[in-house]
Amino acid sequence: FNIKEIIHVKGKYNCLPDYLSRNTIAVDDELAHHEYGLNFKKDNSSSIQLLGAVVTRSKSKATTQHITTNSSPPQHDTSITRLNDFNRSNLNEIVFDITKLKEHQLNDKQIQKDGTLYKLISAPHGKTKRKLFYISSSMIKSLITSYHDNPLIGGHFAVRRILEKLKQQYWWPEMKESVIDHIKSCIHCQAYNVTQQKSPGFLHPTPPPDGPNQLLGMDFCGPFSITPQENRYVLCLTDYFTKFIVAVALPTCSAGVTAEAIFKNYICLFGVPKTIISDQGTSFKNNLIHSLSKLIGYHHIFCTPYGPQSNGAVERFNGTFVTQLAKLTNEETNNWDE
Ligand SMILES: [Zn+2]
Repeated sequence: FNIKEIIHVKGKYNCLPDYLSRNTIAVDDELAHHEYGLNFKKDNSSSIQLLGAVVTRSKSKATTQHITTNSSPPQHDTSITRLNDFNRSNLNEIVFDITKLKEHQLNDKQIQKDGTLYKLISAPHGKTKRKLFYISSSMIKSLITSYHDNPLIGGHFAVRRILEKLKQQYWWPEMKESVIDHIKSCIHCQAYNVTQQKSPGFLHPTPPPDGPNQLLGMDFCGPFSITPQENRYVLCLTDYFTKFIVAVALPTCSAGVTAEAIFKNYICLFGVPKTIISDQGTSFKNNLIHSLSKLIGYHHIFCTPYGPQSNGAVERFNGTFVTQLAKLTNEETNNWDE
């Protein structure tokens, strides 16, 4: 190339690069896929609604090219004549007549005689088409609810399983998105959805113990402002039966410090509890604490990440305790551990 001059062309006049960039998108344009093409809906009332007549980019591009090639070079006289003939005689064919929609819908195999709209989905290799109910947008919510929230059918299953079941019988645009949205807004799922991994220990609300030292709740509070004794955390050990609480001020919440505190400040004074329950924090879920429970002979169970209610007594106490500590800390210095 021999570039002589560079001229700036304003963005709004320079549509060629824009056209080129759009051209490539059309290749994997979802709208070009036959399953996502023209969607229409027939009302029970006499009014007919057209939801969306879609002209895909590849289609409109083809049309443009057809016209330009036919009109530009003078040697293609025959094609121009043909275009003119087409314009005169077939004018009616290029005008879309919306008033005939109802008549055509009645002859459409997708729409049954009773006016119910179906979506015909062809199986990947088979010739037979499956007939799915087309679900109107106003009914999507109640359909998903009936599958997801009903313990007999769905039982709060995740997106993939609900979708598999729905796809057997129903169709609507953006099915997957609707199901994802529904599950995201389901309080039950948000509260109890534990990751796919196997959960350690027991999961569900702990039955009340029938005596002292049967069940001990364990949890950390803090970090608080550091004291002269260099304490920042409080380990709370709560007996579920008596509600008796041992609170130990500690410098860190490391495994070693925690294990020592459990041993010195509880077991040596009150004996070995039958079971200790805690959350899955690294202070409690580690090899040292595990070895301690094996050595001394108590059970250690972990409550679920999103179910602190199973360690309810301790969490309840912490609520009050933190408020009290905050008051002490605010009033004067940072001697809350004394
Ligand atoms: Zn749910």
